[in-house]
Amino acid sequence: MRTVRVWLKRDSGQYWPSIYHAMPSPCSCMSFNPETRRLSIGLDNGTISEFILSEDYNKMTLVKSYQAHQSRVMMILFVLEMEWVLSTGQDKHFTWHCSESGQRLGGYRTNAGACGLQFDVETRHVFVGDHSGQVTILKLEQESCSLVTTFKGHTGGVTALCWDPVQRVLFSGSSDHSIIMWDIGGRKGTAIELQGHNDKVQSLSYAHHTRQLISCGADGGIVVWNMDVERQETPEWLDSDSCQKCDQPFFWNFKQMWDNKKIGLRQHHCRKCGKAVCGKCSSKRSSIPLMGFEFEVRVCDSCHESITDEERAPTATFHDSKHNIVHVHFDATRGWLLTSGTDKVIKLWDMTPVVS
Ligand SMILES: [Zn+2]
Ligand SMILES: [Zn+2]
Repeated sequence: MRTVRVWLKRDSGQYWPSIYHAMPSPCSCMSFNPETRRLSIGLDNGTISEFILSEDYNKMTLVKSYQAHQSRVMMILFVLEMEWVLSTGQDKHFTWHCSESGQRLGGYRTNAGACGLQFDVETRHVFVGDHSGQVTILKLEQESCSLVTTFKGHTGGVTALCWDPVQRVLFSGSSDHSIIMWDIGGRKGTAIELQGHNDKVQSLSYAHHTRQLISCGADGGIVVWNMDVERQETPEWLDSDSCQKCDQPFFWNFKQMWDNKKIGLRQHHCRKCGKAVCGKCSSKRSSIPLMGFEFEVRVCDSCHESITDEERAPTATFHDSKHNIVHVHFDATRGWLLTSGTDKVIKLWDMTPVVS
């Protein structure tokens, strides 16, 4: 779409556009700063156009253009404290500009196109999540940046990032349907998995006051996660030549199969203890919410017996937006969530009944 619309709530209670602005190239992303009424719009041609909205929201004035990327701008983040405009592009670059002078301050080449971008004002670290599934942490100085570290936990590309500066944890969402909570500040190196979507995760928002994570997926699901519980890391999957419960050999263990004259079995893994088990010793399923499995997963028979009903109590609530969510904006102060879908409909949700 080549147009920007500003929707105002009218006396009738309905939203109508007050501005209908045509752009020279299709719009790919935007960032709005309410304090300065500054609207930064990323375009398919690599440009970022910066507008100031009038006080009555009836007019938008172009103030600056940044030639930020060679191709489509994928993410924009305006940091008022630094007067910086951070962006990622399809050209596999992260760049940042000074929003006062319009000058380009620097850039960094990422592994792949990046869809997740977060910034920690206090330490000036930027988090970039890309299509290869990697998260890159960079430290930004006034005119240079240095690589701090990279990490990878998803089997699909990173589609969303969310930084909680209070707990100092980073959430990453992926096209592999999962969310990982990375403990950055605690330096314990824990990575906690959250499984609650049936399709790719499209956006992540965090409600600091209630310690709830809101994830939205292409499956239309809005999941509200209680992060005020002690969650556990999922176990490393153990490898074994035979079932660690009944000792039956797995099918690649030819020696033992020959000796015992037995047909090998397929190896499965218990999601709770990580043991390699055969299908017969892991016939039951259970949810393990504190390990992030809100849906039922494979567990071995002894783990199935050990999981109490209390431990099965869900730690998330599930809501159906009834459209395939593409973009999301969460207004934490009002508790409103805005979703837009592939059906081109914009929906406004009052999340206060569940986020409070
Ligand atoms: Zn077995
Ligand atoms: Zn087990």
